[in-house]
Amino acid sequence: MSTVNLSDITKQFGNVTAVKGLDLVINEGEFFTFLGPSGCGKTTTLRMIAGFYFPSIGKVKFNNQDMTSVSPEKRNTGMVFQNYALFPHMTVFENVAFGLKVRKLKKTDVKRRVEDVLKKVRLEPFIDRQVSQLSGGQQQRVALARALVIEPDILLLDEPLSNLDARLRDEMRSEILRLQREYDITTIYVTHDQVEALTMSDRIAVFNLGECHQVGTPTEIYNQPVNDFVAEFIGETNLLPIERHKEEGITFIYNSNDLNKSIYVTNSEQNIASYDGADQLYMSVRPEAVQVDVEPMEGNNVLSGTVELVQFTGESVHTIVKITENVTLKSTELNRGPSTYMKKGAEVYVYLPETQIRIIPAA
Ligand code: ADP
Ligand code: MG
Repeated sequence: MSTVNLSDITKQFGNVTAVKGLDLVINEGEFFTFLGPSGCGKTTTLRMIAGFYFPSIGKVKFNNQDMTSVSPEKRNTGMVFQNYALFPHMTVFENVAFGLKVRKLKKTDVKRRVEDVLKKVRLEPFIDRQVSQLSGGQQQRVALARALVIEPDILLLDEPLSNLDARLRDEMRSEILRLQREYDITTIYVTHDQVEALTMSDRIAVFNLGECHQVGTPTEIYNQPVNDFVAEFIGETNLLPIERHKEEGITFIYNSNDLNKSIYVTNSEQNIASYDGADQLYMSVRPEAVQVDVEPMEGNNVLSGTVELVQFTGESVHTIVKITENVTLKSTELNRGPSTYMKKGAEVYVYLPETQIRIIPAA
């Protein structure tokens, strides 16, 4: 097990800056996820930890030991690549044994360790099968076994589930978590899938355009996003531009031409991200916090509107309500039966509870 410390890392490819001024500390035994859209620098960062790329600026440390220019084979990291990078015409045994043979282990030790790890990933019966004859999920397990067999201090996984269908993806999520616990290994997991990140991680770093916007636990990232990028990338949200307000007791306002359709925020203490020097502020309200009813509710920030769309997903119902020409609000409620569904075109009221409104700056 190791800690990983990245300080002020920048990586240039020609004039492309893939990663910019990245600072991160990953704790011993942590399941840590890099989450962000395609092209945001996740793979580049992972490869700098593995040693396949060297940073243009900055330092990589494991357990406070400088590894910045150490070659990959001397870092003791196990990596699973997005496309698995297996040898298709070799057997499962040969694929998994490869790294051990390179390390010049005795034949009997190689055999024992390969058999052990294949038991752990439940592939023992396939030990002599050619990799090209295995299913996608089984190939994924071979790739995991190959990374784990060297007993790495750090396990690096680059979008390992993106080539699997939805059902298998679910199954492999728990499988990877089980292995991480059994091996008790510091793990860095790359994904663009927010559900994967939220369900699997101890902590998440949210990336965009080569920069890390926020590091936190899944609940911190979801409930207290630091800016509009994080709020919109993780889950869904209603985002409205707001202004600071001078009137006593009211701190922020979403200013609509229609006074009854403006939204006021009076809680100046809770739920406000730091926004020093921001050009634009937003209020962010998650759809599950937005209440819709045909009768007006008690309280501030009750806006009238018209149901524009009702989307049924099975477990929940999304209702999109048009408030003004420019503003629609989305509400998500658990499915409580047909009698509770709003009808398209219905005149309704929307309630935004103030404690559920988060104030955030533009990224
Ligand atoms: P992600 O894994 O988040 O999708 P990458 O780390 O692969 O993103 O890429 C980040 C940026 O760096 C992208 O703009 C990509 O085109 C660029 N990039 C990555 N690898 C190379 C490379 N070997 N040469 C040139 N540009 C690269
Ligand atoms: Mg990538």
